[in-house]
Amino acid sequence: MDLYEYQGKQYFARFGIPTSPGGVADTVDEAVARADAAGYPVVVKAQVKVGGRGKAGGIKLAADADEVRTHAGNILGMDIKGHVVHRLWVEHASDIAREYYASFTLDRTAKKHLCMVSAKGGVDIEEVAATDPSAIARLHIDPVDGLHIDEATKLVAEAGLDEEAREQAAQLLLLLYACYVEGDCDLAEINPLILTTEGKVHALDAKVTLDDNAAFRHPEWEDFAGTDTLDEREKLAKEKGLNYIGLSGSVGIIANGAGLAMSTLDVVNQVGGSAANFLDIGGGANADVMAAALEVINTDEAVRSIFVNIFGGITRCDEVAKGIVEALHRVELRSPIVLRLDGTNAEEGRAILADHVSERLVVEPTMLGAARRAVTLATGGSK
Ligand code: GDP
Ligand code: MN
Repeated sequence: MDLYEYQGKQYFARFGIPTSPGGVADTVDEAVARADAAGYPVVVKAQVKVGGRGKAGGIKLAADADEVRTHAGNILGMDIKGHVVHRLWVEHASDIAREYYASFTLDRTAKKHLCMVSAKGGVDIEEVAATDPSAIARLHIDPVDGLHIDEATKLVAEAGLDEEAREQAAQLLLLLYACYVEGDCDLAEINPLILTTEGKVHALDAKVTLDDNAAFRHPEWEDFAGTDTLDEREKLAKEKGLNYIGLSGSVGIIANGAGLAMSTLDVVNQVGGSAANFLDIGGGANADVMAAALEVINTDEAVRSIFVNIFGGITRCDEVAKGIVEALHRVELRSPIVLRLDGTNAEEGRAILADHVSERLVVEPTMLGAARRAVTLATGGSK
């Protein structure tokens, strides 16, 4: 389970990791009250479980209550990469001298924990890893030995953190490690970890993923689950009993079975495309479910083509075909469908669709061929 930034910061606080004083707000008035309490200037931050909020305009500095009103009003309801903002975190603004990066995660291949520290924080760490890998200092930690202060000190020096930040940063790494291990996190990331102009090191952002397998020993996690508000599309999908996860690409995916849905994502990637979502319509899906799945995907404006990949087993291909026909009547689909039907009643399914095949509904015999076609359509190619 991913936590919101404010929850991550509350989690950090339990382990003594320094953060800025602040509070949660769901309305403009609440935001002003939190800002008054935190002390001006403040920063108003959109709470959505997606990175790059700053660039999207979801993080704004405010010098006084009026500015808080303006920014809170603008940010509440904002759509950031398909996530609608319903909640804000308002905290006392920091004077930033330097922005660093620090994280702990599990390196499954090495069977060890991995700590990463960089003096190039505040920006997308994947980008740093791609363009300047030497800017990230790495340390593998044997879970039996744990992390010791001398190793942490060496690591922050290696990462090139400023002299005056090193001692505090090393201490903070020990706290973050404790949070990661004792707190049963899959990921504990601070980006940026800052050095303030007053020479203090603290966490300006928090990205925490809890290890769901450890939920049994953390009854307190139930509070987090309760606030796990789904975005509009995920809510719509859930109402219709679909297993939908939004992603950031342009090819909408519908498949039956989680395994096939994942393979479909892989194949789309393999031929140079990117999936807009994961959607498993499950076994035994009927026409109604298929139509509902198309409806949900149709609300995603990033979608340029829809790849329907069905391997009929319990799910019968003729039912799927009926669902597609029904959806064509029920909703005005914005994107063309590329369909691959195989397995139980595939021929009957194709027969049902025969009259509807057009540029907007293409049938491809193989999964790879269908993926190529869907990606070509999504990227505006002509084929
Ligand atoms: P993200 O874009 O979703 O990762 O959100 P962050 O919480 O990391 O904030 C993005 C950027 O906003 C940071 O890298 C800072 O440059 C800026 N920012 C956030 N909080 C403050 C603050 O208290 N003071 C100042 N000056 N800038 C801030
Ligand atoms: Mn950040």
